[in-house]
Amino acid sequence: MLSRITVLSGGMGGARFLQGLLHGIEQGSLPGVAPDAQVTVIANTADDWWIHGLKVCPDLDTVMYTLGDGIDPDRGWGRRDETWSAKEELAAYGVEPTWFGLGDRDIATHLVRTQLLDAGYPLSDVTRALCRRWLEPRFGERLTLLPMTDDRVETHVAIADAESPSGKRVVHFQEYWVRLRAEVPAETVVVVGLDKATPAPGVAEAISGADLVVLPPSNPVVSVGTILGVPGIGPARRSPDAKVVGLSPIVGGRHVRGMAEQMLRSIGVEVSAAGVGRHYGSRSSGGYLDGWLVDSSDAGLVPALEGAGLAARAVPLMMTDPDATARMAAAAVELVS
Ligand code: GDP
Ligand code: CA
Repeated sequence: MLSRITVLSGGMGGARFLQGLLHGIEQGSLPGVAPDAQVTVIANTADDWWIHGLKVCPDLDTVMYTLGDGIDPDRGWGRRDETWSAKEELAAYGVEPTWFGLGDRDIATHLVRTQLLDAGYPLSDVTRALCRRWLEPRFGERLTLLPMTDDRVETHVAIADAESPSGKRVVHFQEYWVRLRAEVPAETVVVVGLDKATPAPGVAEAISGADLVVLPPSNPVVSVGTILGVPGIGPARRSPDAKVVGLSPIVGGRHVRGMAEQMLRSIGVEVSAAGVGRHYGSRSSGGYLDGWLVDSSDAGLVPALEGAGLAARAVPLMMTDPDATARMAAAAVELVS
């Protein structure tokens, strides 16, 4: 019986997968998974940034709000029933940047977080405090959300800029994604601080103590890639018996949403479910994975993946609702059992 599952998550893709995984555990529809299985989420923090004096952690919040039933279901980020008065007031003062929207309800989360950080608590403690509202009432001890690190790590993106003497400009990931809408090619992705970061308390143990490590359909570069890039994290730390399974965020050669295509191109990885599977690599070739799920529409890629030493299978990978996503989680568990 699998009783300890660790998931390396970004924001929306990771959060939706977790919703299905937890739903499947509750329903008892995941083969070989204990009904009281513990799920630990290690979330990407390299999207984090400071804005208007507030510390914003988009991926932690997306996981927390999604699983705690506070997410805006249409946007997929931020709070449900949100209002934007603070944003409008800041714009009326001419405060930049105006392109990053913080909703009024959401601001309360960032105020609590920032005050606790200012008081000296590490992000992992602050996250635990925030989860007391969002996750504990529903999941109790069965679910733990951890930031990948307590250290400051930030993804920056180099883009072409004809007006700069070097011909390039480096922007924070949030500026690339929110202001520029990832519409210009990303030439390089640099994760500032990653090489010096240490895993947050509990993170290394969540990998070494897991029966199963899951790479959900999150962005392979700026979500899962940054988590795996923290020295001392990574399924390399898993126990020899633990399995690592991943689900492709690329379906039919395209990302489902977000900017995985741009990010994969920036690191020279083929934009396909096979390209991402080979990028993570099979355990037998020194990579991370024991198994890799691709979408049914990518079934033609399975033989090549198997040739690369990966147990691969094609199943529907669209997270349309928690039942469909629970079936994906069940297929992932089955593939490596
Ligand atoms: P972000 O931090 O909010 O960008 O979220 P993640 O990194 O966790 O997930 C983003 C990835 O999720 C993108 O690359 C999408 O292609 C992928 N994704 C979103 N929805 C789906 C889905 O329904 N199915 C699959 N297979 N991938 C999805
Ligand atoms: Ca993210």
